[in-house]
Amino acid sequence: MPPVIKPAHDEYDFVVIGGGSGGFGAARRAASYGKKVAIIEKTDHLGGTCVNVGCVPKKIMWHAADIADKLRQAANYKFEGTGVGDPEFNWTEFKKQRDAYIRRLNGIYDHNLVKDNVEQHSGLARLTSPSTVEITNSNGTYTLKAKHVCVAVGGEPSIPSDEDIPGASLGISSDGFFELEKQPKRVAVVGAGYIAVELAGVLHTLGSETHLVIRHEKVLRTFDPVLQDTLTPWMEKTGVHVHKKSKVVKVEGTKGQTLTVHTDQGEKFEVDTLLWAIGRHSLTKDIGLEKIGVDVNKKGDITVDAYQNTNVPNVYAIGDCQGKFLLTPVAIAAGRRLSNRLFGPPNLKDDKLVYENIPTVVFSHPPIGTVGLTEPEAREKYGDAVKIYKSSFRALYFSMIDEEHKEPSVHKLIVVGPEEKVVGVHIIGLGSDEIMQGFGVAVKMGATKKDLDDTVAIHPTSAEELVTLR
Ligand code: FAD
Ligand code: NDP
Repeated sequence: MPPVIKPAHDEYDFVVIGGGSGGFGAARRAASYGKKVAIIEKTDHLGGTCVNVGCVPKKIMWHAADIADKLRQAANYKFEGTGVGDPEFNWTEFKKQRDAYIRRLNGIYDHNLVKDNVEQHSGLARLTSPSTVEITNSNGTYTLKAKHVCVAVGGEPSIPSDEDIPGASLGISSDGFFELEKQPKRVAVVGAGYIAVELAGVLHTLGSETHLVIRHEKVLRTFDPVLQDTLTPWMEKTGVHVHKKSKVVKVEGTKGQTLTVHTDQGEKFEVDTLLWAIGRHSLTKDIGLEKIGVDVNKKGDITVDAYQNTNVPNVYAIGDCQGKFLLTPVAIAAGRRLSNRLFGPPNLKDDKLVYENIPTVVFSHPPIGTVGLTEPEAREKYGDAVKIYKSSFRALYFSMIDEEHKEPSVHKLIVVGPEEKVVGVHIIGLGSDEIMQGFGVAVKMGATKKDLDDTVAIHPTSAEELVTLR
């Protein structure tokens, strides 16, 4: 369905800027209350980062990598024949299939807007006042009038400038990763957060020689120490070249051909692709925020209160562009709750997303799941009242796998006070990605260690470790 060119209404109840996770959550929920809603997207594809260059294609690549691992391990389970032990991955063909799936999702997103009666506008949006949004596209410029405006413009990957790091622009970002037509034989990934760990893991598991350049000793430094201490050495053991305490200072060569990466430790190595994964920044420049006086912090994130209100009445911000918890379900939940509050029934007039105990998963190899406080955060908040329960084990699956390739599992509970309320759950190992959601519910409900102990284990699983910790 092509986006509308002529606005259907003189004034909308709600205009949403950005057709990504947050924008969709907000717009569709507002429309479900019978409101006049318009959503504006500047690219040709709806769905935003998550659908096009984020969660979805990333998770598909993670599954591909997981299959490569399983094929290698299949011989341990006494499978024989072609492909077992030495799988060949056809990146080029798989990318076509992955892209086709994403295009199908884009179509579903289009369809859902039509179905829900949300008017779709295509073009670059800019606020000209707190109640007017200007849209510019190939047909020209026009303006929508709105009672409420929600900014959900998301962000983009940060890449160092060539002035800061000569040759930096020879590298690609996670967006570029999803454009790669061929699997790089050798790759350098710079960064230590979610994206660096996930994409380095995918590339390495699919067989690329992978260098991970990190500024400190460990990856995922904002996560619980047990996760950093388990994943970093495991990545090294499996053959990722982790360049610790290193910064890239120069890149030489030709994009698409051989690049030479120089670090401040005097190291120099050659790769086909260099991938920057050093964080993201909000797309809040030049969209009129300064003109209408919306507060934006130094990083460019929009300042909001607990209800997603900016300092300008009737202008709101949700999702990545407000800089907190850059996760799809967070953007969706904040958007839906905002619309509940603005347009919903009286019992939802106070609705808001509580930015606490948000469960999250890192699709590393092995995967990580986490919710609540890390141990350092818990000790700072609760001091000596903190108690730790921890179990290190090998999932049963690995009983048949040779010693060298048995992945570690570690499950850690952080509890406080005599009632042993669970304030943090941090797990790494096979299945952690799927285990976490249920424990997220438990922590949100205020579970204690006794509640977990009182729950009968499911056997034989990895998850049962969390209800049998001593
Ligand atoms: P976006 O999804 O980025 O949507 C913003 C939209 O606004 C975009 O479509 C953009 O084109 C549009 N826009 C911007 N400016 C304008 C303008 N001026 N006018 C009109 N339109 C505009 N999260 C998870 O929960 N799980 C994951 O596994 C996960 N994996 C990820 C993997 C990668 C590689 C990346 C990069 C991110 C991942 N994320 C993941 C994060 C997740 O994608 C984001 O948190 C989520 O997409 C944020 O939604 P949003 O609506 O705030 O922004
Ligand atoms: P992150 O903020 O998670 O991590 C970036 C890391 O890169 C920093 O923690 C820092 O680690 C390192 N870094 C920062 N600047 C530099 C620099 N100049 N040179 C070298 N290293 C640097 O950002 P990502 O880009 O990985 O991901 C963005 C967000 O997207 C995530 O925070 C997450 O919210 C979301 N996301 C979620 C996923 C999921 O849910 N599974 C998957 C992917 C993304 P240090 O300080 O240790 O050097």
